[in-house]
Amino acid sequence: MGLIIYLDGKFVDESEAKISIFDHGLLYGDGVFEGLRSYNGKIFKLDEHLIRLYKSAKAISLEIPLKFDEMKNAVIETVRKNNLRDSYIRIVVTRGVGDLGLDPRKCKKPTIFIIASKIQLYPESIYEKGIDIVTVPTRRNLSESLNPSIKSLNYLNNILAKIEANNAGASEGLILNQFGYVSECTGENIFIIKENFLITPPIYAGALEGITRRVVMDIGENIGLKVIEENITRYDIYTCDECFLTGTAAEIVPVVIVDNRIIGDGKPGKLTLKIRKEFHLITEIEGTPVYE
Ligand code: PMP
Repeated sequence: MGLIIYLDGKFVDESEAKISIFDHGLLYGDGVFEGLRSYNGKIFKLDEHLIRLYKSAKAISLEIPLKFDEMKNAVIETVRKNNLRDSYIRIVVTRGVGDLGLDPRKCKKPTIFIIASKIQLYPESIYEKGIDIVTVPTRRNLSESLNPSIKSLNYLNNILAKIEANNAGASEGLILNQFGYVSECTGENIFIIKENFLITPPIYAGALEGITRRVVMDIGENIGLKVIEENITRYDIYTCDECFLTGTAAEIVPVVIVDNRIIGDGKPGKLTLKIRKEFHLITEIEGTPVYE
């Protein structure tokens, strides 16, 4: 038996978890998603992720046919049924089955599935050594087009950026917005530290309102850093003391090279490591229990 998947109100084996080729999530990337984690039997920031999911859905006029608490229970139950303590959880809501035209009115019922799987941890070496990133040619979507705040199934822009980073032999791609300001990386938010300032681009620069980003901003304040959201340029990154990325899967990843410029002394920064440690303390304590 494989993973047990939540699919439209039922729990089925992964071999039976199939969706239609007429689903607009597949045909057009018409849908939204979330990626969450559980740590030691507790789902981290479950409400925050679900709030973002429902906001993303609202922004694309997609009415999720589950109430907030029903979705919450479905997520908890999916983790429980798979007997997982440390897991990566994916929630996907698509527009549902329609015809070959674009019109979402033809899609009568959104498709919902939830996958809870063993977490594929990033190799410890990336946290010890730090990673290198490069600025990629692909720019962040305009907020007046597909707003980057919407965690939609249409991730091609990010995938193009990822391909460009791969082609350059770098671990991640740094994406600028149409004004040349830094927005974020392909699947993570970016932070820099300069003296005692912890700086991250504002949401309007084209950054996703990351859940890890928020936690890190709170940690920054608690350890006495001045936390600011402001537009930054590549120059600001090249000349900063420390740089790191944040995301649910990657957590907090030190960045040591940006466009061939060595950041700080070329090693993960002290404050970055401190923030990572504090983050782990929080993930140990907080979360929605799955097995109570
Ligand atoms: N930016 C993008 C484009 C993302 O897809 C993600 C999520 N993987 C993030 C940032 C980080 O957000 P979070 O901390 O909520 O995972």
